[in-house]
Amino acid sequence: MDFKFTEEQEAFREEVRNFLEEELKKGTFEPTCDGWIQGYSPEFTKKVAEKGWIGLTWPREYGGGERSNIERLVLTEEMLRYGAPAACHWFADRQIGNAIIAYGTEEQKSELLPQILKGEAYVGLGMTEPEAGSDLASLKTRAVADGDYYVIDGEKMWTSCARFMTHVYLVARTDPDAPKHRGISEFVVDASLPGVTIRPTIDITGSEAWGEVFYDNVRVHKKYLIGEKNRGFYQILHQLDYERAGLERLMGNYPLFDGIIRFTKETEQNGKPLCEDTLIRHKLAQLQIEFEIGRLLTYRVVLVMDEGRAPNVEAAMAKAYCTSFEQRLASVATEILGLYGQLLAESKWAPILGMAPHSYLGSKGYGLQAGTTEVLKNIVATRGLGLPSE
Ligand SMILES: Cc1cc2nc3c(=O)[nH]c(=O)nc-3n(C[C@H](O)[C@H](O)[C@H](O)COP(=O)(O)OP(=O)(O)OC[C@H]3O[C@@H](n4cnc5c(N)ncnc54)[C@H](O)[C@@H]3O)c2cc1C
Repeated sequence: MDFKFTEEQEAFREEVRNFLEEELKKGTFEPTCDGWIQGYSPEFTKKVAEKGWIGLTWPREYGGGERSNIERLVLTEEMLRYGAPAACHWFADRQIGNAIIAYGTEEQKSELLPQILKGEAYVGLGMTEPEAGSDLASLKTRAVADGDYYVIDGEKMWTSCARFMTHVYLVARTDPDAPKHRGISEFVVDASLPGVTIRPTIDITGSEAWGEVFYDNVRVHKKYLIGEKNRGFYQILHQLDYERAGLERLMGNYPLFDGIIRFTKETEQNGKPLCEDTLIRHKLAQLQIEFEIGRLLTYRVVLVMDEGRAPNVEAAMAKAYCTSFEQRLASVATEILGLYGQLLAESKWAPILGMAPHSYLGSKGYGLQAGTTEVLKNIVATRGLGLPSE
């Protein structure tokens, strides 16, 4: 067992850090929490694309960097550490490109992958519906074959990046008569097609990072069906492992973690820096212990991926644990900041760029998105421990 990164990997980390430092200095971005999902910056995404850092692990024949998942981990770790605004390319880079490579036709690959690699296609995830969340197989959005097209009708909610997506990775029912898991297919849909209506979802933090998307008689060419017709549900299960697997589940709020440690060093109370208060020191130390455990769990996922295995139980375990770490981080930071911890970024008095209230409120949803904590624990119980399904 060797926990060290190689010299090449460390050199790559340095390169990514230098790039991010440079962009920070130039003012391309200001660190934000959850920059991977909230940080909209086409300019930043273009620069990442120019570095060749989108599709880092994809095969060279499709324009990727054919580098290891560990190198991608190094890249994402630094992006998250700096709170970089990576939402435009994150989903396509993390899972949609991989899905197209795994299941797509050569025509789909040659049309869609270059757009992702150039940082021009921003792909949202269109799975959840009002009556189909954890039980995704109950989805009702229909795709009915009509000549060379599928006609799509239905409604999705919580579609990530809805407000700016150019494409959506959509899951729809293609065989209403088959058992519910066996009649579902996946499509890449151009979000500007007639009949697609996007309504932003303003969440508890005031963010519009997600949206409701309505599909009314949307004609999608058959060439955009991804993979095997009616096998979409099984393809998705595979993709979800990648969605759950990353460091974003641990480090989405790293700028707050870093900020609260600095705050306790720089802020005095009763003539002493806050960091000398035993209670505060212990709370921060506890967070650091949990952070390191989360890091090992997420690193394990990447090792499994580099072995060519799907990180199913490992990803479920990592996400369930890291989600609760991030929720505790937001609570501890809010406690330490006291009343100031409620001030939003707009206030000139807000410490740590007003990150704490945003994280505190936003973290409530972490246990739902990409699979609820209960569902993840069921995966660990059944597939990890071999316990019977309920
Ligand atoms: C911030 C955020 C971002 C999201 N982003 C996207 C996105 O980009 N694209 C997208 O398609 N969807 C997205 N979602 C939707 C997300 O995937 C769903 O919220 C999630 O799957 C849960 O579905 P639900 O909300 O319908 O809750 P339900 O499935 O109705 O669950 C309600 C409660 O019942 C529990 N429960 C359900 N089934 C079981 C079970 N079998 N065993 C034990 N307990 C169970 C759940 O754990 C939960 O506590 C997002 C959600 C949030 C909050």
